[in-house]
Amino acid sequence: MRKRIIAGNWKMYKTMDEAKSFVTEVKGRLPESDQVQAVICPPSLYLSELTSLSEDSMLGIGAQTMHDTDEGAFTGEVSPKMLAELHIPFVILGHSERRQYFNETDETVNKKVLAAFSHELTPIVCVGESLKQREEGKTVETVAMQVKKAFEGVQAEQAKRAIIAYEPVWAIGTGKTATANDANDVCKEIRSEIGQLYDEETASAIRIQYGGSVKPSNLAELLSMDDIDGALVGGASLDADSFVEMIEVAS
Ligand code: 13P
Repeated sequence: MRKRIIAGNWKMYKTMDEAKSFVTEVKGRLPESDQVQAVICPPSLYLSELTSLSEDSMLGIGAQTMHDTDEGAFTGEVSPKMLAELHIPFVILGHSERRQYFNETDETVNKKVLAAFSHELTPIVCVGESLKQREEGKTVETVAMQVKKAFEGVQAEQAKRAIIAYEPVWAIGTGKTATANDANDVCKEIRSEIGQLYDEETASAIRIQYGGSVKPSNLAELLSMDDIDGALVGGASLDADSFVEMIEVAS
């Protein structure tokens, strides 16, 4: 049985004060549940503070991105070694906004995935097709290729711990959600790709989230699908009530 994971990707939102208030409030309101893991991925500047604040709770803290090397002359970057030192358990990699605005490619995502595993960080690997790719009927081909490239050189034992977030680019921040059936079809294809790259055991262990305009009102239906194990949530994760409600729905 795969444990569900609901992760909030805060992107570049919230002041430090707002972030601290959120964590202080939410950690006391999360339901006790071994069915679901709750994670918030704040801007990297807040990681240390929020990790301390959430220490005595079931709220996990993750990073939104990182570089692929331990250290070096890379102005502005945060390294996997630095995240590991703070005991950050999760890192989002290859988000479509990173691919679109910061020139991330399947190759750089793969390097980061390997670096995450070498530091015992769990990557949340984002994949997803653009509207054009969907309209051209290339959804499965696109997503399968992104998965294949991201996992090059990753061992089966590591892959089992990974999380893949299927986020159709056209559904991010647009209010347009893929139907639960459509989202599940793609998540199923992703699981089958993992099965081909590794084996059945790895395919059934890996957790696959859906992301793209997820909110409390559409989460239950998405989670009722066989191959959807959680959600990567942008906008709706910024509000404490919505976030807690989504964890309750997933519990
Ligand atoms: P929204 O939930 O705001 O559509 O964002 C999705 C996303 O990009 C999460 O990583």
